[in-house]
Amino acid sequence: MAQAKKYKIATIGSHSALQILKGAKDEGFSTIAVCKKGMEKPYKMFNVADEIITVKSYKDFSKIENKLIKQNAIVVPHASFVTYMGFEEVEKLKVQYYGNKKILKWESDRTLERQWLRNAGLKLPKIFKKPKDIDRPVIVKFHGALGGKGYFLAKNEKDFNKKIKPYKGKKYVIQEYILGVPLFIHYFHSSLTNETEIMGFDKRYESNVDSLGRISAKDQMALPNVDPSYVIVGNIPIVVRESFLPRLIKMGESVVKESKKLAYPGLFGPFCLETVLTPEEDIVVFEISARIVAGTNPYVEGSPYTALRYKDPMSTGRRIAREIKNAIKANNLKKVLG
Ligand code: AMP
Repeated sequence: MAQAKKYKIATIGSHSALQILKGAKDEGFSTIAVCKKGMEKPYKMFNVADEIITVKSYKDFSKIENKLIKQNAIVVPHASFVTYMGFEEVEKLKVQYYGNKKILKWESDRTLERQWLRNAGLKLPKIFKKPKDIDRPVIVKFHGALGGKGYFLAKNEKDFNKKIKPYKGKKYVIQEYILGVPLFIHYFHSSLTNETEIMGFDKRYESNVDSLGRISAKDQMALPNVDPSYVIVGNIPIVVRESFLPRLIKMGESVVKESKKLAYPGLFGPFCLETVLTPEEDIVVFEISARIVAGTNPYVEGSPYTALRYKDPMSTGRRIAREIKNAIKANNLKKVLG
């Protein structure tokens, strides 16, 4: 505890910051939330931040970096952190940073990401390079700020050509549409013990796709615009069929093993495999997040899985802080910083 007091945990006020900062306080650290002007309220209301630093824009993060360095802060990244700053900017940070920055490139580039996941032996959705190759239902995804907003489904080339029209000039990928249920798997890999843990599972609550089932097909046909979109609104906890666990654990371990070859010392800390589980029991991975995902937010007090493993209520945020504390105790902080 005393040693933790020499360090502070900092993150950007968004995404999973409530959980990260609360977890850090539970482990005895002081905390700093870096908030965009107007976004401070939740971090005050829920009393998770000992200090709030306000910036005009997240792009100004580098301007307050020295303030963090002076306070001996360790920055914990989350998805919004990397999205707002861009992975190249994150790579340049001088402040202490939890995680391996070298892995960011591998998840930011869809081609490299696929290479990583495929080499780890995971099943991936087929990618169609050209619209004329489409021979089954596909989901068309856009890069960058559009997020899940403009995604559309297409059943063949003609359908694709019609639906792509409003998105002229935008970069996209045509991916096989996997029919099944979404399952987001939350892992934590310890670089201190070299063990991969399951932290929990979730599925996303997305607008409007999660509402389409409430309207009959007949009524959907009558509406002018019922194309599904995937704008994320929240996350819903899941407990999986127990017999799936050995496979799910192995998938996480394989991803970590492969990452060591790509960007030494490899992936560590929290990460997530975003999958669709089919009726044939195939687990198809459509994306990896190499850091904490917002799907862990329902588990501020821990998940059914962390309850099995830990005496304390262990959120993923707290697990990060505990890892940092263990590294400090072992005089091996280098092992968790990148
Ligand atoms: P993404 O932006 O890649 O995380 O995807 C947004 C949402 O689209 C996910 O939460 C899934 O519900 C859905 N999705 C993405 N890729 C596929 C796929 N290949 N097959 C089926 N559904 C998918």
